[in-house]
This record gives sequence, C-alpha cells and structure tokens, in this order.
Amino acid sequence: MNKDWDIDTLAVRAGTERSQFNEHSEALFLTSSFVFDSAAQAAARFSGAEPGNVYSRFTNPTVTMFEQRLAALEGGEDCLATSSGMAAILTTCMAALSAGDHIVSSQSIFGSTVNLFNTILSRFGVTTSYVALSDPAQWEAAIRPNTKLFYVETPSNPLMELADIAALAALAKQRGIVLVIDNCFCTPALQRPFEFGADVVIHSATKYLDGQGRVLGGAVVGTQKFIRETILPFLRTAGPTLSAFNAWVLLKGLETLSLRMERQSASALTLARWLEQQPQVRRVYYPGLESHPQHALALRQQKSGGAIVSFDIEGGRDAAWRLIDQTKLCSITANLGDTKTTITHPASTTHARITPEARAAAGISEDLIRVAVGLEAVADLQQDLQGGVR
Ligand SMILES: *Cc1c(COP(=O)(O)O)cnc(C)c1O
Repeated sequence: MNKDWDIDTLAVRAGTERSQFNEHSEALFLTSSFVFDSAAQAAARFSGAEPGNVYSRFTNPTVTMFEQRLAALEGGEDCLATSSGMAAILTTCMAALSAGDHIVSSQSIFGSTVNLFNTILSRFGVTTSYVALSDPAQWEAAIRPNTKLFYVETPSNPLMELADIAALAALAKQRGIVLVIDNCFCTPALQRPFEFGADVVIHSATKYLDGQGRVLGGAVVGTQKFIRETILPFLRTAGPTLSAFNAWVLLKGLETLSLRMERQSASALTLARWLEQQPQVRRVYYPGLESHPQHALALRQQKSGGAIVSFDIEGGRDAAWRLIDQTKLCSITANLGDTKTTITHPASTTHARITPEARAAAGISEDLIRVAVGLEAVADLQQDLQGGVR
C-alpha cells in the first residue's frame, strides 16, 4: 500500500491481505480460533513474541483488513474495530480513563453517549461537564485539574453546529488533554480530524461506513501507541470485538464511501437550497448553505456540508407530524447514514427524554424536522416533501 495514494484509491485498496488462494475480493474468515505449527509457536503467539492470530476476540484477518483500511482513510496510524459505535466510545473511555477523571463534552451529542457518561461512567467515578460545541472559551473554562478527555461530535445532531477542531486541538494539547472526535456524520470522505490535530477518531460504522443499513459496528482510530498500548488491552480482555462477518460487510462498504458521501451531500445541498425557498419553512440548518453561521468554518474543515439537513416548519408539532406523515418515499425512522432517505421529528423521538426546558435551551423546537438524505433522485425527494412545506 502506498501512503500517498488518494483517499479514493485507499478506499478500495488499503488493508487488503490475500490468502494462499489469491482471492481478488477480500476473504471472510469465519473462525473463532487459529491453529499453530507447534507448541513452541503457540507459546510465542500467546506471549506476543511472534505476531499472528490466536483467537478472534483479539484479532481476526477480516477484521484487521477493515481496521487497516479505515486507518488509511482517516490518515491515522492504527485502528481497532468494535461491535458497535457505543462499544467504541465505551472502550475508549474505559481504556483511557480511571476513577476520579473528568470529561468535557459538547452538549449536543448522541443520546446514548450522554446516558453512558451520566448513568454508567458516573458510577465508576468518572464525571462529565457539558459545554457549547462552537465556543472554545467554554471548553477552556470547564477544564479541571483532573480533565483527561475532550469529547466532540461535529457537526452536531440535529442542528448541524460545528466545532472548530483546530482550536480545540490547540487547547487540548496545551493542557495535556486527549481530543476525541466522533466522526460519524462526516466520515473521512468529508472530514479528517487528524489533519486538524485530533488525537482519537471514533466511528459508529453502523451509519455511513456501512451506509446501507445492514450491520452494527464501530472503530477507534489513533496513534499506534494509543491503539496498541491503551485500547487493545481493554478490547481483547473485555471483548466488545467486531465480528468477522460485520467487518467484511463494512470493508466492502468503505469501497463506495466517498461516492456515496459526495452524492448524498450534493443532494442534501440541493434540498437545503430548495427548502430555504419554501413558504412554510422558517429556517434551514445545513453547513453547506451560505446562510449557516459557521459556513466559513465548514468550508475549511469539511469537503462538503454532509448528508443531513434539518429545518423548522411553521405550525409546531402538528405541522411537523403532518409533513412527516404525508411523505410516501422517506422512511420514518431516527436512523441515519443509509442509502434510503430517513425523516424524523427529534423533539418527540431522539430528544424526547430530555426536559422541554433543556430541549428549548438546545434549540430543538417542536417545529424541527431532520432529513438524512440518501441516494434517491433529489427531484423525487423534493416531490415527497412538497405537500408539507407549502
Ligand atoms: C449512532 C451513533 C452512535 C452509536 O453508534 P451505534 O453503532 O448505534 O452503537 C454514536 N455516535 C453517533 C454520532 C451516532 O450517530
């Protein structure tokens, strides 16, 4: 593999290892364990003196191919895959933190991540403070002597606010804090956080990396030292490992990642521009629009605005639900990152469990609708939304 290859080339070529059969497409190794030539080799593999596979909770050739391909796409040194995105976040926290440590996190992050921090890690003595994603001054003010980790999702869900990764990286570096970016929404096809100084990149591979709604998976990307010395000991002992089958599906998903992201983002921009013109639409949240308050940062940090568009409609929950219910093409689901376009009402689904006051403070109103744009023709999507927006 040539490190200078373009990301599009790496997406189809990086990480491939052929077996003795010289298969062209990557092989699927459905095996829990591996055999040794001798007792001495077994001992050497177990002690780590000789590299090689032992047991699929530790490593598996298909999983390794996915890990190496994703590391190449992110421009990171190394990667380990996990059974889901949440497993990647849990693994990172359990591996990098101890009782008494503190996390500073952006406010608007994935709901299960908030639950993990507030109801599970808190029981093990890890505390979390939440700050506004887009304001580095708040991050600085929240730092305590025991702050070990900055946790960031950018763009945010569902309001598509951005964090200035380079600014947070400079602050984190100065204070000896590990900067973790959940790169689920953009993927390396649109945003490569290591180029802006991030230390660790996390993925829910369930979303765009698969991109076709088939499997769950996750990954942690970072320096070789962090991945081998911090992440691996936790992963191989605790066992939230990615299955070989899911790794194979994800490996093939990566081959079409940039094609899908480019097309889905282009459709999202067209849809966002069109929505801005509709009489019933009060505001559109999309970083690719000139009207987005952080459009300049989006141009610096991302290749495009991404595939998710949110908007406020006149008429509150009734109008929002009516719009959603009149669609015939969009899937009504809170999932995202699929080739099939999905539509959701965040206030009554993904953000229903937080208090109305907290929702209002976060800017998630009853008027808000989120569309995760897929690969359908954008004209068909417009027609599907048309009855609800004018
Ligand atoms: C879905 C999601 C996760 C969790 O991933 P799973 O694969 O569902 O465990 C984490 N972060 C973000 C931003 C997500 O959208």
